[in-house]
Amino acid sequence: MSAKIIDGKAIAAKLRAEYHVRVDVLKAKHGITPGLAVILVGDSAASRSYVSGKIKACREAGIHSELIELPATASEVELLDRIESLNTDPAIHGILVQLPLPAHIGVSSVIEAISVEKDVDGFHLYNMGGLVTGSTVFSPCTPYGVQKILEHENIPVEGRNVVVVGASNIVGKPTALMLMQQDATVVICHKKTRDLGHFTLLADILVVAAGVPNLIVPQIVRTGAVVIDVGFNRLPDGRIVGDVDFEGVKEKASYITPVPGGVGPMTVTMLLHNTIVSAERFATAITSGFRR
Ligand code: NAD
Repeated sequence: MSAKIIDGKAIAAKLRAEYHVRVDVLKAKHGITPGLAVILVGDSAASRSYVSGKIKACREAGIHSELIELPATASEVELLDRIESLNTDPAIHGILVQLPLPAHIGVSSVIEAISVEKDVDGFHLYNMGGLVTGSTVFSPCTPYGVQKILEHENIPVEGRNVVVVGASNIVGKPTALMLMQQDATVVICHKKTRDLGHFTLLADILVVAAGVPNLIVPQIVRTGAVVIDVGFNRLPDGRIVGDVDFEGVKEKASYITPVPGGVGPMTVTMLLHNTIVSAERFATAITSGFRR
């Protein structure tokens, strides 16, 4: 068997074209341009590159974006003040604080300061908690991207065995909760899991987000499994690889995402989606006479 290679870039491009139409409708019908504020604290090259990618994607989708740069020495209070004014800024529908933050700033107090209605990254405790009950205001972008890939490929989730390798708060746990919400039987594995293969071999759908190159080899993948590789690792020779032995596993799986070009392009696409949804809710609130 040779797997269908899922083209995340193509799915992302298709969705972004649809989102652009929604932006045009918002502008034409309501005079509202969706707006995203991105806060960057410090000058990490990696963070700057992620932020530039997000700003570029906004521009291409017709979304207004504002980059707010604070020095690495900025205090937590300064950052909280900026968030507070963005929370009440009617031109801004989404607020994103690029992580990681400098060590002297408490991440959770910063994330909790973002208005839930503008938390387009989906990291606020309210949105995290909503994953348990299936009632988030915004779903976190990478897990949402995984869900959209499965939907796009018409891969059913209900009743299937899903194994998620990786239990982080931003990828593994929310992915597991979102797929459980769709009635999958879900197992979460992590670095303390004994005999990883014992679990991964049960997976009809295997989602891997561990940050360990070649963690998933063909011997621990069930024949015909759907393999979604969230991992993004730079090797010493500069190559970018996922967590899955792509060449080996693609001969055993039914579907597989490549790295790069699989889940990666979907993450920013879901950020655009969430920002547009927020602006649409804002437009509806205005039309119905209730302004946030
Ligand atoms: P993290 O370091 O916060 O969490 C990693 C998780 O994997 C932990 O739960 C850990 O217990 C588990 N793990 C580590 N080694 C393991 C092993 N040997 N066996 C089983 N589980 C193991 O990482 P994260 O932020 O969740 O990111 C995971 C990967 O996904 C990274 O490669 C990251 O770059 C990538 N990522 C990609 C995107 C994207 O848009 N494509 C977005 C976020 C993260």
